[in-house]
Amino acid sequence: MQQTMQQISDQQLIKSGSFINGNWLKADKQFAVTNPATGAVLMQVADAGEAEAEQAVTAAAKAFTDWAGRPASERGQLLTKWHDLLVQHQDDLARLMTLEQGKPIAEASGEIAYGASYLQWFAAEAVRLYGDTIPAPSADSRIIVQRQPVGVVTAITPWNFPNAMIARKAAAALAAGCTFVVKPAAETPLSALALAELASRAGIPAGVFNVVAGTDAEQIGKVLTQHSRVAKFSFTGSTKVGKTLLAQCADGVKRATMELGGNAPFIVFADADIDAAVDGLIASKFRNAGQTCICANRIFLHKDIARPFTEKLLAAVKQLKVADGLTKDSQIGPLINKQALQKVDKLVQSAIADGATLLQGGKVAECGELFYLPTVLTDVTAQMAIAQQEIFGPVAALQTFSDEHEVIKRANDTDAGLAAYFYSRDVGRVFRLSSALHYGMVGINSGAISNAAAPFGGVKQSGYGREGSKYGLDDYTDIKYLCLGGL
Ligand code: ADP
Repeated sequence: MQQTMQQISDQQLIKSGSFINGNWLKADKQFAVTNPATGAVLMQVADAGEAEAEQAVTAAAKAFTDWAGRPASERGQLLTKWHDLLVQHQDDLARLMTLEQGKPIAEASGEIAYGASYLQWFAAEAVRLYGDTIPAPSADSRIIVQRQPVGVVTAITPWNFPNAMIARKAAAALAAGCTFVVKPAAETPLSALALAELASRAGIPAGVFNVVAGTDAEQIGKVLTQHSRVAKFSFTGSTKVGKTLLAQCADGVKRATMELGGNAPFIVFADADIDAAVDGLIASKFRNAGQTCICANRIFLHKDIARPFTEKLLAAVKQLKVADGLTKDSQIGPLINKQALQKVDKLVQSAIADGATLLQGGKVAECGELFYLPTVLTDVTAQMAIAQQEIFGPVAALQTFSDEHEVIKRANDTDAGLAAYFYSRDVGRVFRLSSALHYGMVGINSGAISNAAAPFGGVKQSGYGREGSKYGLDDYTDIKYLCLGGL
């Protein structure tokens, strides 16, 4: 184990294998988890595969009847305990996350609080899983509707939010009475395994929460989408992989929730508060070095404010501190791996070749080979690859527009429909845009939209289903209609 790992004060949070039916997997075959800031191997983790995924689903199926049969208040109390343990171990969990994922420690700490907030939210929602009575068409009958847990829920999650993407799915699933199996990204298994350790300490019974950590995503994915005991599958990741997994779900008619890629427009109108818009853009664009699915991707500036906005943005971007996430005040950490960095750089270089102007950055930073300098490009057009693909890096690609109608059309001209943002102080425009933007989430004069009380999810090829909020339990429950006759 690398020395940096010794700095985790509770060493029992560091696990080296999957958590299945309350047991920790040991295996001869292992895979390395590396620190993207330094390239150093942090530790070896047992490489689980198809067989372990099957064991986990079987364990979850076995645990289901007992878990679903417990009073909702009891499930809520266990989720609350799990939440409290995350908060109690926030520093260790954040450090572990920064080590394997790279994000600045302040962001990692924020993510632990954010992930924990879903446990708290759904602990409270568990006891509010209300049903309905419906007026029946005849006097001697009654119609009752109750909501039941769907059964075993499986999930595959990405590396960009190693804790919160799991916590927000598992919290809703467990609150509803479902049992859960997750395959975290192979880049970031340690945060997922630490979550499992804390679930166990909280008293969540064996088999209710399982983590299958392994490198054979395809085989594990087949089990999680096709096993006969799986009732529902929830995915957060790329649109391409999501489509494959959705097709796999079709055969068994599994319920599915898909939180896929975005291509968020960020529109600044001439009537906007420019300083607030710059702050909002920095928050939305550069968080996690631009590696979030709701990052501003296409930035549209009204031509009358494009110049002052760009100047202020440039000044703010120059202030961003690029450094190892464990360095105090780091704001931009490394990208997750070499391929990610090459993809970002290729988008930037091809935009420049196609006529975009580089104002800032555009190359690898000095502090390490996976660090990319915060970058600003102007004169970007809709035809450029950088405007059509998810950049997933710290690159602000600026376009200009002349009128509202035109920018709405351009903003909606994409297959993605996750998040959109706009800045305006004109109340009529606020309502017009709110309706016209074809997205699951719209940030209005705000660049930070995610929280447990709000429904997170997309439309179009960004997927379906909502996570968090009062709607968040819907995807984990079946509606059962009871018809009482002869009364
Ligand atoms: P990203 O670009 O964020 O890495 P991916 O969609 O490639 O997005 O990965 C998200 C999650 O999907 C990860 O846990 C990854 O291991 C998993 N994954 C990738 N390919 C497959 C696949 N063919 N089947 C199942 N899971 C997959």
